[in-house]
Parts: sequence; C-alpha cells; structure tokens
Amino acid sequence: MTFGIDDLPVRDELRGKSPYGAPQLDVPVRLNTNENPYPLPEALVERIAERVRVAARDLNRYPDRDAVELRTKLAEYLTNTSGHPLDLRNVWAANGSNEVIQQLLQTFGGPGRTAIGFEPSYSMHGLIARGTGTGWISGPRHEDFTIDVSAAEQAIAEHRPDVVFVTTPNNPTGTAVPAETVLALYEAAQAAKPSMVVVDEAYIEFSHGASLLPLLDGRPNLVISRTMSKAFGAAGLRLGYLAAHPAVVDAVQLVRLPYHLSAVTQATALAALEHTDTLLKYVEQLKTERDRLVAELRAIGYEVTESDANFVQFGRFADSHATWRKILDRGVLVRDNGVPGWLRVTAGTPEENDAFLDAVREVKKEQN
Ligand code: PMP
Repeated sequence: MTFGIDDLPVRDELRGKSPYGAPQLDVPVRLNTNENPYPLPEALVERIAERVRVAARDLNRYPDRDAVELRTKLAEYLTNTSGHPLDLRNVWAANGSNEVIQQLLQTFGGPGRTAIGFEPSYSMHGLIARGTGTGWISGPRHEDFTIDVSAAEQAIAEHRPDVVFVTTPNNPTGTAVPAETVLALYEAAQAAKPSMVVVDEAYIEFSHGASLLPLLDGRPNLVISRTMSKAFGAAGLRLGYLAAHPAVVDAVQLVRLPYHLSAVTQATALAALEHTDTLLKYVEQLKTERDRLVAELRAIGYEVTESDANFVQFGRFADSHATWRKILDRGVLVRDNGVPGWLRVTAGTPEENDAFLDAVREVKKEQN
C-alpha cells in the first residue's frame, strides 16, 4: 500500500473522503459542468489583454484589497439588470462564488454551528460546510424537486441552523424557487435563531423569472451570491460575488485573506463587465437551446425536470451510471450527480446539443 491521505494526521472529518470534481475527460462534446460553450468574443479578449497589460506594470504592488472599482461595476450590473439599486457597499467579490460561500461559512458557520440545504442541490454547500467545520443538515424536497415549504420550515424550527442555503435556479435539477418560498424560509430562519439565508443565484441570468435581489430590502440577514462563471462565460476567470446589507460585506472582511483578489483577476473581470451586453446575448441563445433540449428530450420519451438554468435534468433510468457511460461511449460527456434515476446535461452550442440528442436517441432505442 502506498502512503496516502489517511496515513497523515488529517482532521477526522476529512478521513476517507474524496475531493469534489466532475471528470475532466477529453471527449468531443463536454456538457457536464454547466460552462458556457461560447469562447469570449475577440474584442473582449483584446480588452482583457489591454487591461491586464496595465495591471502588469503594477504587479510589484499588492492589488486593491477592497476591489473598489470592480465592486462598483458589479453593483452597477446588478442595479441595471434587476432595477434594485445597489452600490459598492452592498457588494463583495472573491475567487469564484465557491470562495464567497466559504467566506460566508467562515463568518456565520464554523465549529459548533450548522448549515442546512435542500437536497439534491449544489453539493459544494455541504462540502464547504464540512471544510469550515460547520455541521451539515440535509433538508427535504418534493418528488418533483420543488422545495417542500412546510417540511423545510419544520426542519429549520427543529435544527435552528445558523445558515440556510437556497439555490435558485437549483443545481442539478434546474428548479426555480419562488420569492414566496424564500420569504417563508427567511421568516422561519429569523424565528428560529436568527440565522443567515444565502440565496445562490449562480444561474439566475438563464431563468424565466427575475432575480430575488429586491428581497434584500429590509432583510439584513439575506445574502444573494452570484458568479461570472456561467452567464459571463468566464469560468476560468474565477470571479464570484455577493449582494447584501453593508454589514454583511463588513463581516466577511473579518475572514477574507488580505489581497485575496489578484490585480489580474480584477482587471480581467472589469474588462468582461465592459462587454456585458454582448455576453448577455449569448445567454439568450443558450436559453433558446435549453428550451429546445427540454422539448426534444420529452419528444424522445424522457422525463425532464422543468429548467430555469443552462442545464437540464433528464431521466428516468434504472441505472443512471450505466446510461451515463453509454452516452459517453458516443462521445458526449454529461453529468451523473448521484441523483438516483437522473442525469444532467448542460446546454451547449446547437451542434453540441444535436450530438447529445443523437446519442440519447440511440440509447433510448437500445433501452426500449
Ligand atoms: N453555485 C452553484 C449553484 C453552482 O452550480 C456553482 C458551479 N458549479 C457555483 C456556485 C460555483 O461557481 P464558481 O465558483 O465558479 O463561481
């Protein structure tokens, strides 16, 4: 036996665990990690190069620790797209929304505290909870993957968690969460503790409905987290952000590492924000493709969960992993999130989606 993790004096809760990670396989069509399939437009690539060149001249200095220009521009983007006025003081940014979530759990979770999520949902909420020493509670959903509000209220009243996660649209199911549900859970969480409610809107730009940003009004314990990894087509940039009451922004600064957001990251994100209009046009194309995937999968005879995201959950399979493998054998990589009976496909380019639909048509014929 080779010397491994468990031979090291690692923390007990990490023993026997495996790291998060979708397979990064080299196949022709990769529709497994909810990335945007469109490369950045050439004009934006040029703008990034220009901004990074300027930033490079100052790399002997630490970056702007508070990322003031970037947070100002992110606040403008949120204000313009939601109609809900926000400014610099309401916005905080970090290396991907995963880091935002980590900072929130370091601030509001931690040893002796707990967080709840309604599963199946984004598995990193639970994993980051574990990494920050926060206890994890798995809350329920209905059969159709909507949140069971009364069961959720009951779970909050019983466990009195310090942090409540709500993901809308939800990953991996694509399910949007209505504002009334978030309001009910917020009320339950305040009555129980009070605790923080974190709404993960990583995919909100793809939704048929609106962002829940207006709910921030008068609710200082509500946080909305966002990312440039999906709608902005910039997963490689690693830029996530949150909107909340200014006190929340002050609080996360107690745990953030100094200068966590490099000058190169800030410059690149600012360039991307200058091209928001172009990037949001790709979002419209992807929404059309998502709707086409839903319709065609149903026409083939699959069950499909209603989707507000850039991916679609389809099934049902007696053995989803075996089906995942059959689709992969046809050169298309989708995601098996471990939800029994279901798989998830990310909306790609029209050509990629055609390749996927051809593959699942063949698989369906085989299974009939
Ligand atoms: N939240 C949800 C619901 C996600 O699906 C993802 C990415 N898969 C993230 C957050 C994290 O994204 P990033 O760290 O790239 O911003």
